[in-house]
This record gives sequence, structure tokens and C-alpha cells, in this order.
Amino acid sequence: MATVELQNLGKTFGEFTALESLDLAIDDGEFLVLLGPSGCGKSTTMRMVAGLEEPTQGDILIGGERVNDKPARDRDLAMVFQNYALYPHMTVGENIGYPLKIAGLSKSDRQERVRAAAAKVEMEQLLTRRPAELSGGQRQRVALARAIVRTPRLFLMDEPLSNLDAKLRTVMRAELKHLQKELATTTIYVTHDQVEAMTLADRIVILNDACIQQVGTPAEIYARPANTFVAGFIGSPPMNLIRGTLKDGTFTHSGGALQLNGPDGEMYLGIRPEDVTVAGGSGDLQGTVYSSELLGDSTLLNVHVGEALVAAKVGPDDGRVMDSDITLAINHGKLHLFDAHSGERLS
Ligand code: ATP
Repeated sequence: MATVELQNLGKTFGEFTALESLDLAIDDGEFLVLLGPSGCGKSTTMRMVAGLEEPTQGDILIGGERVNDKPARDRDLAMVFQNYALYPHMTVGENIGYPLKIAGLSKSDRQERVRAAAAKVEMEQLLTRRPAELSGGQRQRVALARAIVRTPRLFLMDEPLSNLDAKLRTVMRAELKHLQKELATTTIYVTHDQVEAMTLADRIVILNDACIQQVGTPAEIYARPANTFVAGFIGSPPMNLIRGTLKDGTFTHSGGALQLNGPDGEMYLGIRPEDVTVAGGSGDLQGTVYSSELLGDSTLLNVHVGEALVAAKVGPDDGRVMDSDITLAINHGKLHLFDAHSGERLS
């Protein structure tokens, strides 16, 4: 069993709070992603689970056992970092086998397991090379093989793909996900990249300013963001947020008014770009085209509607001339309302 429980976990550095009280239960075999902007406390959380940082408050349980006082080496976990941290003077095989050597396994016992781990990441042909003779993706595979060679209870990964170019990152993302499901090892993965989080995670924890903003599956978080921070952080381009006032079913904003169901008050109307279309006749939003970008399978329109710049992901033939007038329709079944002051979801 390798469940992980974080109970009231917190960390301060002097006066500064890096992580407020965090409560989280991670299932055995789950792929959990900690997502948030730079400085939100992701790495600090991970480092506390790893035993590299001491919590100021709270408990960490791995497999039901409190590990607060256990040194990192006794927690039975493997870490993969952004910079891979390979030993340059060792061969690929020696790098992969290093954790086994530390654990005191004989050379012959090590050899078989190194070969098996290398095979899992398709590196068995390159065991005698040194890191300097490998591409970025190959180095990343060696770091992964070194993590899996010991079959630990838990993987901790801190932005492991961020040094790779965009294309390789996509390939390695799929490989990582496949490998994690095959090994069924509980994984905590830190990233600031929402696409990585959406594609890899069983569940995402979104952090901002040292606090949890939302926990859920990628689909839940995308469909029902808990507040304006999450709404703006997940999705590319992000959700449009138009500020206005709703009264008696009429939402009035800086660019006009439209009919909406919802409680009276000041709020943000949230609309995902794919839920906006170019209206044939009368629509919901009137504006002028700021930019029109053909993406191949679709067109991204940015439209000035009053003070808001509304993004619309429309069909490839729906491009428009800059500065032309346009009417947009929104999918009323997929709207999001957030309180203007607290930012919390209303419906
Ligand atoms: P990034 O994506 O940039 O790594 P992060 O979300 O992982 O960001 P953390 O590394 O967890 O952020 O840091 C959270 C906050 O705690 C940051 O504001 C950081 O400056 C601060 N911090 C981290 N380590 C220390 C330390 N040893 N002493 C003081 N402040 C620290």
C-alpha cells in the first residue's frame, strides 16, 4: 500500500508562509499533479513529502505510517528532477544502477534489474554511453529508469519535462503516463504547465498563494472551476471573464447587455472560447475584431466587447477582417458565474 496523506501540512520560512494548512489524501497508484504558478508552494510541498524539508506543522503519512521523523533515504521513494541530476562520469547503466549499489545489491543482481529498467524506457542499447553523449530526451529516460529501478512505493517528480523542447515534451508525456499506469506506482508530479497537468493527472490540485484553490479530476476542474483564478489558469486560451451586473435576468456589462439566468449581483460571466460562435443574426455580444488567427483546424478571434477582449475559437472559415464589426453568440448551457468580489463560483 502506498497511499499518501497530508494532514494540516504547512511550512513557513521565518515570517513568510510558503504553504498554508494542506489536507490531501492520495490513493494507491494515483497520478496526482500539483499545479500552480511560480512560488505557490508546489515544490515546498513535494520537498516535505520527500523529507528534504521539515514541515512547520502537520503530518505526512505514507502507506498509513507517519514519516515526519524519517530521513529521506528511509521513505522508500524515488525523485525525478527537472535537471535529471545524472552523474556525468558514470555510464547510463551505472547511473541507472546507482540506487541499487547504494542499497548494497551485488553486481550480478544489479545487472538484471538495470537491464529491465532500461528496457522499460527503451534505453537498453545505450547502457555504455555517458550522459554527455545523449540527447535531452534520452537523459530524461535515464533519470526515469533510475527512479523505477528500485520499484519504490512513491514517485516524486518536479517539472521533469520542462527542459525538453515542445515536441519531445509531448512524446515523453505520453511515455510517462503509460509507464506510470503500467507500474501502478503512486506519483506526485509538480508542474506550472496546465496542459501537462490536464493530460497526465488522475486528479489535479491547484495551488495559488500557498493555498489549495481546487482539487478534482481534469474534467471536473475544466467543467466547473471553483473560482476565477482556476477559471483563468486552466484552458488555452483561458476562459473569458466579463465583469458586469445581473439584475432580473439581464446582465449589463461595459459593452451592452444580454439575458441570463442567475442571482442578482455584481459578477463575472465566464465563457470558454470554444463556447463562443459567430452569430448569424442577432447574438449575445457585439464587438469589433482585434485579431483573427487561423490555427488550421480552427480560427482564434479576439474581439473587443466594451472593455473586455473576448477570445472565440470558431471554425476555420469564420475568420474576420481586423476592425470589422461582429456579433457573437454564446452557449447558454455552458456559462459560468463568479462573484465579482470573492471570485468564488456562483453557478
Ligand atoms: P516554482 O514553480 O517557481 O518552483 P513553487 O510553487 O514550486 O515555484 P516553492 O519552491 O514551493 O514554489 O516556494 C514557495 C515560496 O516559498 C516561494 O515564494 C519561495 O520564494 C519561498 N521559499 C522556498 N524555499 C525557501 C527558503 N529556503 N527560504 C525562504 N523562502 C523560501
